[in-house]
Amino acid sequence: MDEDLFKGITLDDLKMAGGWSVSPGQTYLYAPRERELMLRARAFAQQELAPKAQEAHGQVREIKAGYQGKERRARLREIAQGYLRTLAEAGMSGSLYPEQYGGSNAGVVGECLIDEELAAAGHPGDTIRSVSLVLGTVSILRYGTDAQKKRHIPPRLAGEELSALAITEPQIGSDTSRMQTTAVLEGDRWVLNGQKRFCTGGGLADYVTLFAITDTSTHPHKGMSCFIVPMDHPGVTIRRQLDEVIMADWMDNVHFELNDVDIPKENLLGPLNAGYHVLMDELDTERVTYCMASLGSARRAFEVAAEYSTKRVQFKQPIAMFEGVSFKLAEMYTRIDAARQLVYRTAKMIEAGTPAQLESAVTKLFVAEAVWQVVDHAMQVLGGIGYTTDFPIQAIFRNARLMRIGAGSDEIMKFLIAREVLRTIKG
Ligand SMILES: Cc1cc2nc3c(=O)[nH]c(=O)nc-3n(C[C@H](O)[C@H](O)[C@H](O)COP(=O)(O)OP(=O)(O)OC[C@H]3O[C@@H](n4cnc5c(N)ncnc54)[C@H](O)[C@@H]3O)c2cc1C
Repeated sequence: MDEDLFKGITLDDLKMAGGWSVSPGQTYLYAPRERELMLRARAFAQQELAPKAQEAHGQVREIKAGYQGKERRARLREIAQGYLRTLAEAGMSGSLYPEQYGGSNAGVVGECLIDEELAAAGHPGDTIRSVSLVLGTVSILRYGTDAQKKRHIPPRLAGEELSALAITEPQIGSDTSRMQTTAVLEGDRWVLNGQKRFCTGGGLADYVTLFAITDTSTHPHKGMSCFIVPMDHPGVTIRRQLDEVIMADWMDNVHFELNDVDIPKENLLGPLNAGYHVLMDELDTERVTYCMASLGSARRAFEVAAEYSTKRVQFKQPIAMFEGVSFKLAEMYTRIDAARQLVYRTAKMIEAGTPAQLESAVTKLFVAEAVWQVVDHAMQVLGGIGYTTDFPIQAIFRNARLMRIGAGSDEIMKFLIAREVLRTIKG
């Protein structure tokens, strides 16, 4: 056993209000820097974020009930930016980004460790963090010019600039090869036309990272490019705010149109017609970070259910004493533990720059199903009270369902896995 691995860490460090269910054995997998980051993130999440989570949910609900249009946007932005500033001050934003852009350079693994811990605190701001600091922005880091990186990454990490990701359209979801939004170069400006739907955070964003077809003469995957588009640009119109099952609690998820939106040539992100490559790369990272955040929420559901089961008495004993309940806890724990290892493995691959499309798909499929099963069990353990807003399970439950659709559905993950496996057999 590597003694240094546990230097300075006691079991009590791992047994905070939330997070007690993570096996100390998990730290065997982490490098000392990762282990230290996990503990710091957990302490911050449990001590600073978790106690304020309820109040933050209430604030958002009040704004949504009382304000519309620009006023509502300004107020929601204010809370989102405040949350991101708090994270920046605590060194909890920017794991994916080098120090020169204001990041902490903790890599994909570091980002995942933070994702799990922050999500487990149940603060509504966590969605804006994932959307603004991961989706779209990671592509700027990987494919952006120096000027684009300097212009966009530092203000995003500081919470000043908000961003979102725009892939999906009314007619295309899983099948991006049917993308209809186009961008045409006219002189030194790109002119964009089309529609984007389900843009999480689009209502609050200053910029979106957007995919459009730039060469209609070839297969869309060979003629797609990526752009940085300002949301306040003339020709960008929000058509509809979608009322979703969950994230509307915080984020404005929008359907918007682009009508002759002419942006500078320099807003092209990455090489011309290489947008599909940018997209696939972006999705690999998005999938693992999304997995870890969902797992963090599932862990919270598990911990709430486990604690509840020791206190709730029926038939003269705590319900945890019934095998029908305790076996559910065992299954939940096992799924979370196994799912975490899978995310960690894939995050390491991505960090090393190894192609991980198959592994990302395997991870996303497994974690989405595991999270759904865990949260469903948690709801069952709490019985009727779990279905009410007295406990956070109902919110986690609604969010967990999205994971089987967003960032590539379960079926698309199976399609990707089967394709890669069969390709291997065929050579
Ligand atoms: C809350 C929320 C937030 C989102 N945020 C964003 C965002 O920020 N940015 C963004 O660009 N998009 C976002 N999306 C869109 C999301 O990525 C898509 O919903 C998802 O990719 C599925 O596309 P679709 O909804 O059009 O379903 P469809 O593609 O129409 O699929 C419908 C059903 O058919 C199945 N199906 C499709 N093709 C196949 C196949 N080949 N084999 C088997 N089954 C198949 C699907 O699995 C699904 O069950 C968001 C969606 C939601 C609900």
